[in-house]
Amino acid sequence: MSEPRLRAELCDYSRRLHGRDWVANHDGNLSARLTDGRFLCTPTATSKAEVHTENLLVVDASGARVSGRAKPFSELGLHMCIYKQRPDVHAVVHAHPPHATALAASGRCLDQPFLAEAVVSLGPTIPLVPVSAPGPAAVAALEPFVPAYDVVLIAGNGVFAWGDSVEQAYLRLELCEHLARITLLAQPLGGPRPLPASLLPALLESRRRAGLGPEARGVQALAPPGSPPGPLASADPVAALIRQELAAALKRA
Ligand SMILES: [Zn+2]
Repeated sequence: MSEPRLRAELCDYSRRLHGRDWVANHDGNLSARLTDGRFLCTPTATSKAEVHTENLLVVDASGARVSGRAKPFSELGLHMCIYKQRPDVHAVVHAHPPHATALAASGRCLDQPFLAEAVVSLGPTIPLVPVSAPGPAAVAALEPFVPAYDVVLIAGNGVFAWGDSVEQAYLRLELCEHLARITLLAQPLGGPRPLPASLLPALLESRRRAGLGPEARGVQALAPPGSPPGPLASADPVAALIRQELAAALKRA
């Protein structure tokens, strides 16, 4: 995509985040991969309602500003950590959508698949990245989750989603917020019932065939050893079932 079109897209999706009340004050940030190792970013200390093509900035792979008057946002290191590990990723979107952020703030994640279509789009779970200090510690906390996931909740922060376009990253964040909202709405009714584990292999196979998820990229689905325990590594019995089904699906693939 040409740089002018990408600039227009970043502005469009910045305003969508603001229009849906998924950011307040200067919250949230967006970036997109340009050619030649450069990246287009939203400016820091600016409402997402006030992002214009002319106040976007361009940075290099180290996060240093190449052009634009504004300063890069402080979470740029998290975006760069994603681009570095995932050459397939061309855009990263971060916001604080209230339902997903409520789960993250409560130390919860989306660890039980309850909507078949969401398993195909995002995988069986959306993990919670542990809370950490901003800067290198936050990058170190996020890093192990990047190869296997396309969207994460971050404790004490919100949602990060990434994809092959700004639209795809935004839609992944939207689906995460939707799942979180359903999860919270279902609480008075006893909470969402997880899909039967027997359904998961077929859903994961559909996901792989659609070119989505770690298996389609030839990457191990589970978090690497030594990484902070994600939901799939927990002692939760449903997570254990999912883990078994994932292992079986991977063997068949
Ligand atoms: Zn944030």
